[in-house]
Amino acid sequence: MNNEPRFIVDTMLGTVARWLRILGYDTVYDKSAEDWQIIRRAELEKRIIVTRDRGLHIKAIKSGLKSILLWEDDMPDRLAHIALVSGIQLGIDFNRTRCPEDNTILVKAEKEKIKSKVPPGVYSVHNDFWECPRCGKVYWIGNHWRQIEKILKEARDKLEILKVKSRL
Ligand SMILES: [Zn+2]
Repeated sequence: MNNEPRFIVDTMLGTVARWLRILGYDTVYDKSAEDWQIIRRAELEKRIIVTRDRGLHIKAIKSGLKSILLWEDDMPDRLAHIALVSGIQLGIDFNRTRCPEDNTILVKAEKEKIKSKVPPGVYSVHNDFWECPRCGKVYWIGNHWRQIEKILKEARDKLEILKVKSRL
């Protein structure tokens, strides 16, 4: 776990931060961070910078940091690009998924204990729930799930293409 990539995501890329957390990667995202703060924190905590800002990207590289300049707009392309450079796994493992809101590792919840936190219709059809120890938000594999899987499948396919291209 210790050698796993950790990230710091630039201000315009909140959805990318959420995805990295869902995939289980320790990801800092602060909407109000200035470039120098991002660079400082990346240095201190050995995080990979993810940005759309060419200026920040160049500054980071010059400081000897690892930085990924995302030019893609679609999430599968973005995730494939990040995976190519950093080696992240493009699949969900609930043992390591982090809360998309605050980066805390989720814990499996006892069903009875979270009853009041989920809609009755959800409670009656699902058995597996996860809870964020920090913010208390409860997660389950709902309708949303098909979309997440679809995007990850696309990202994996695109990653294979990128790998072939990078060998040419
Ligand atoms: Zn949370």
